[in-house]
Amino acid sequence: MSKTYAICEIFHSVQGEATHTGLPMVFIRFSGCPLQCSWCDEPLHRQPTKAEHLTLEQIRARILEIAPNTPNILLTGGEPLIADELDTLVEYFKEQEYWIAMETCGEGGEIPAEVDWVTLSPKNPLPQTVYERADEIKFVIGPDAGDTEKQQLSSCQHPNFWLQPRALPSGPDPRAVDLCYRWALESGGTWRLSLQTHKYIGVD
Ligand code: SF4
Repeated sequence: MSKTYAICEIFHSVQGEATHTGLPMVFIRFSGCPLQCSWCDEPLHRQPTKAEHLTLEQIRARILEIAPNTPNILLTGGEPLIADELDTLVEYFKEQEYWIAMETCGEGGEIPAEVDWVTLSPKNPLPQTVYERADEIKFVIGPDAGDTEKQQLSSCQHPNFWLQPRALPSGPDPRAVDLCYRWALESGGTWRLSLQTHKYIGVD
């Protein structure tokens, strides 16, 4: 029997966050995550009964059906790293000449070598090697963050570093946006502001 992957949804949209804001991508959202952040804004991945178990060929067919001209794939979740044989999936789509990005908390498994772009959104301290593998770091900041969080950010040096305001279930949280805006200004450019622009225009 062919290997399957637990997938919540596959959809076509533009990346709303950080470096690749505005770039059309096919989003493959994996089911499950090793963490349980109380504020997680992607509750779908926590409902394993809603996951579809798809083979590589079925995933590819779905992508070609919804976005035949888009050469960019984003692996997201939940947490893609917990998927068994993620390397095989990445190699399969690299053979189809896709550019592959991944959003990860950095926990649950190894980042496949062939992933082209890694967005690391750490929730816990991670080994230095994981930070070094990241092409961008995106910290999610709640409205009540203070000196402790600022110290954590300051201890993480990376040339492509983003502050992303934590959203409310109803959409952007103005208090978190304001805090990230002020911290970005104070940083002088070391930290940049990542707005979830898809939420402002009302798309996935
Ligand atoms: S790591 Fe991300 S996907 Fe997992 S529970 Fe936390 S916010 Fe949700």
